[in-house]
Amino acid sequence: MIRRLSQHIGEGGVEMKMICTKCKQEAKKVVLDSYEHERGIKLKDVEAYECPKCHEFIFTEKQMEEIEKRTEAIKVHNFSFERKITVSGRSLVINIPEDITRHMKLVKGMRARLTPIDDKELLIEIK
Ligand SMILES: [Zn+2]
Repeated sequence: MIRRLSQHIGEGGVEMKMICTKCKQEAKKVVLDSYEHERGIKLKDVEAYECPKCHEFIFTEKQMEEIEKRTEAIKVHNFSFERKITVSGRSLVINIPEDITRHMKLVKGMRARLTPIDDKELLIEIK
């Protein structure tokens, strides 16, 4: 569970102590390697406060704003499409959706390196 705390920054921007409301313990500033604010959207190096007793994470209003902003930014770019594999001559073809073309500024003549990761994943790198 995550609680929002307000009024953690005093006048003049001086950082106030973050106190766990449950344990009345002072939470220590930590940097989380990985934090999921929304399922499936992982953020790296997220600043938070951790209660030394219950180990619950507390976020300041500013930290929460940052987390929400970063989550939104990932969501905007994390789009994916499903396409049917078709045939052109003797080759199999997958069309690249226009949204991806525009987003990645792809044009005719660019080269793409295809690397099979396993039998379910194919990495496409634009050169
Ligand atoms: Zn606590």
